[in-house]
Amino acid sequence: MEKIQMTTPLVEMDGDEMTRILWRMIKDELILPFVALKTEYYDLGLPERDRTADAVTVAAAEANKRYGVAVKCATITPNVQRMSEYSLHQMWKSPNATIRAILDGTVFRAPILIDCVKPVVRTWEKPITIARHAYGDVYKAVELRTTEPGVATLRFQGQSGQVSEVEVQQLNGPAVLQGMHNRESSIRSFARSCFQYAIDTRQDLWFSTKDTISKVYDGAFKEIFEQEYQAYAAQFAQLGIEYFYTLIDDAVARVIRSKGGFIWACKNYDGDVMSDMVSTAFGSLAMMTSVLVSPDGCYEYEAAHGTVTRHYYRHLRGEETSTNPMATIFAWTGALRKRGELDGNEALCAFAGQLEQACLETLQRGVMTRDLCHLAEGIETTPVNTAGFIAAVRACLEQKIG
Ligand code: NAP
Ligand code: MG
Repeated sequence: MEKIQMTTPLVEMDGDEMTRILWRMIKDELILPFVALKTEYYDLGLPERDRTADAVTVAAAEANKRYGVAVKCATITPNVQRMSEYSLHQMWKSPNATIRAILDGTVFRAPILIDCVKPVVRTWEKPITIARHAYGDVYKAVELRTTEPGVATLRFQGQSGQVSEVEVQQLNGPAVLQGMHNRESSIRSFARSCFQYAIDTRQDLWFSTKDTISKVYDGAFKEIFEQEYQAYAAQFAQLGIEYFYTLIDDAVARVIRSKGGFIWACKNYDGDVMSDMVSTAFGSLAMMTSVLVSPDGCYEYEAAHGTVTRHYYRHLRGEETSTNPMATIFAWTGALRKRGELDGNEALCAFAGQLEQACLETLQRGVMTRDLCHLAEGIETTPVNTAGFIAAVRACLEQKIG
């Protein structure tokens, strides 16, 4: 069989633990036999990040900016315990945070749906994609806890020397205080990434804040989205998709009553909480995909889950594991499809679709990893380990490709 050719390389970011093992299996069994894969490889596994003083992460993100499309394996974010486990020189920052800062992007998360795993919300028929603003607000706030009566003020001194000041509150006893901010440039990037992604995926975009209460802060988010939308409005109209703003209270009510099939853009905290709720309601973390989209149109595809450490330790002890590779496979298909679209490579786009279809058909037949067996309803399931699942997908894919 002739392999599918590629013109531009994908930026490939390898990772850690169980997902590093899945990575190898997916490439060997599901991609390399069919595609003359071109990648620029960066090893973001923790040992290599430590050896290069994390320069490899920065280089990978810069390559992502240069080529446009990357696929990333889950990586360890070091904590105290990892310091000794890997004899690290430093507690390196989260690679995802480093890459996000360089690309200035927004993370979009969407579940992979299958018939036999029913969402908790019975009206949901299509995926709901959450777009979470990833800068500022309470995540970059400063806080104070006071012990005596007094007055709290919010004060800004401009470079020009001009001062603006408002009283927060006269306090007659102990209190807690918080000062938070966001940057206009970051809100604009967030808005642009959202409009771009809505166009890419041909889905409506919803954006919600609490601007009735937070008239200045959330009001600025609403206003900036409206301004940025002007540059996309014609394309939205052409594609028959819609941008609409609503209060967060109204949004949650509408989301629960909806059929799904749209993007819900949320401020940082709302996105943090709502993405956990929506993903749990759809079923399983192992079926959640994630893509980082920059305002200038760079894409980094990955699984939403981590390195599945508990399974990895079992694997190291020689025990069998049944880790679900779906989200990692879909990271690859997402990246291959996007590369194909950018290069006008129809064969590559078609292959991405066939591989996804082969995965879904394998699951419909009940062949699935144990995490999904627990969730599946109304079908006879055959629990398999990771290698067994990948082999079943491979057989199905070979049939499709002929
Ligand atoms: P995790 O790797 O997402 O795993 C948490 C649990 O969820 C697993 O123990 C497993 O449950 C279940 N699970 C997740 N993915 C699964 C899959 N594909 N198949 C089957 N079950 C799956 O989260 P974590 O254990 O909190 O974090 C592990 C490491 O990943 C940490 O070092 C963290 O820094 C890193 N992390 C990286 C990213 C990223 O790179 N994007 C994201 C999150 C976390 P059972 O054990 O019950 O089967
Ligand atoms: Mg959360």
